[in-house]
Amino acid sequence: MIEFDRRYARLPANAWVAQDPVPVQAPELRAFNRPLATDLGIDEQRRGTLAELFGGNRVPASARPLAMAYAGHQFGHFVPQLGDGRALLLGELADRLGRWYEVQLKGSGPTRYSRGGDGRAALGPVLREYLVSEAMHALGVPTTRALAAVTTGEFVQREQPRPGAVLTRVARSHVRVGTFQYFTARGDRETVEALIDFVLDRLDLEPGPNPALALFDHAVESQAALVAAWMGVGFIHGVMNTDNCALSGETIDYGPCAFMDEFDPQQVFSSIDRHGRYAYGNQPMIANWNLARLAECLLPQVDDDEAAALSELNRRLEAFPGRFERHWRARFGAKLGLVEANADDDALIHAWLDALHAGRADFTLAFRHLADAIEDDSADLRAGFDDAGALDDWLPRWRTRLAEEGRSPAAVRKAMNAVNPDRIPRNHLVERAIRAAEDEGDFGVFERLQAAWAKPFEADDEFADLRDPPEDHERVLQTFCGT
Ligand code: AMP
Ligand code: MG
Repeated sequence: MIEFDRRYARLPANAWVAQDPVPVQAPELRAFNRPLATDLGIDEQRRGTLAELFGGNRVPASARPLAMAYAGHQFGHFVPQLGDGRALLLGELADRLGRWYEVQLKGSGPTRYSRGGDGRAALGPVLREYLVSEAMHALGVPTTRALAAVTTGEFVQREQPRPGAVLTRVARSHVRVGTFQYFTARGDRETVEALIDFVLDRLDLEPGPNPALALFDHAVESQAALVAAWMGVGFIHGVMNTDNCALSGETIDYGPCAFMDEFDPQQVFSSIDRHGRYAYGNQPMIANWNLARLAECLLPQVDDDEAAALSELNRRLEAFPGRFERHWRARFGAKLGLVEANADDDALIHAWLDALHAGRADFTLAFRHLADAIEDDSADLRAGFDDAGALDDWLPRWRTRLAEEGRSPAAVRKAMNAVNPDRIPRNHLVERAIRAAEDEGDFGVFERLQAAWAKPFEADDEFADLRDPPEDHERVLQTFCGT
């Protein structure tokens, strides 16, 4: 039994459309997140039942499946109507702490918002989202979660026919900046207001004297924290459109995302990001831009006096760069073994990143090897750089700074290894899992990667082969949207 709450369906009727999932031919459960299910109060059920539930063939009596309306700026251009074209919200479940989560099927068939799309998902992107979102969670980055992956026994037509699948996604809230834009574009102030109250309630936030400002404050702070967390693990979202920017501060939409191997602030993977709009180093600026779009939607709710509303929202928007910087400094300071990084440490952090860039060093391995160079030089660290010359100056500076904080080298090393992952979802490994599953029907690689990335900070001989960057012939240079 699954007892869904249905609060989203109590929002004004123009915020969604009711739609049942379209049953699939031969649902088969390929992954199920038992710990998450238990946390959400989903009890033990037969695999066959789970496959039917999360393939969309059986809708629990308590569910009220619906597609959410939203709009969005895609690569800077406003599209007034997007919406869930292949996803359906089943309902909401509370975890053991009483926090609410939305449960959504993705790939469950067409909706009013499909715009010619088939409403389906291919197995590859489903496995990719499953692996990467769960790895992000284990890495301590706020994210939507993956509850289940079910193959459909049907093919979906892409460039070639591909095996189909349905992903079950779980989020604190799927409301996006684009959800607000949808109603603002229609002059529907009432629904914007209802949405503000709904999101505050859903995220357990205090509305205070001005709910719109309370929501905006949260959005600014949570985006600042989120993007700093991405940068700390070398993550490039790839498609930071306003419809992929969740008010909850969770990472959402694992289409063309990727983790970088060697450090390069200009790195882009997405095949459709031709101008590098969503490059690694641009992500804070884009989050800021997306927040400005949200502010535009909230203006009428903040104050009837437009000038007053503008000034309140602007003040908060202008705080974004400072907030981001604080999160970034704390993340990168900790990655360098500092208990408390301050503004003076920015130069040290930047010099390290410059050395990585100049030396074409692997972002993940370099931090991990650095923890072995606290007292003495490390051959492994140097070997990771094409040119390690910059380290001659940098390492002594770093050691002097560590000595100021006075922690023992063992304590610093332990702290560094607790925040610098041993292994990340490198693109070539994700691709390997997808190829094995799509081409051979072999889910063994997928399962092994799940296990390896569930504990990303623990060095483990069993997973030693998953640490290294790709060989030249394994490199993935481009990623594609999940359609
Ligand atoms: P995304 O690129 O996943 O953020 O999706 C952008 C928009 O396209 C959203 O409105 C999606 O619901 C819609 N969309 C993506 N793939 C499909 C599909 N296969 N069928 C219908 N709509 C889709
Ligand atoms: Mg999306």
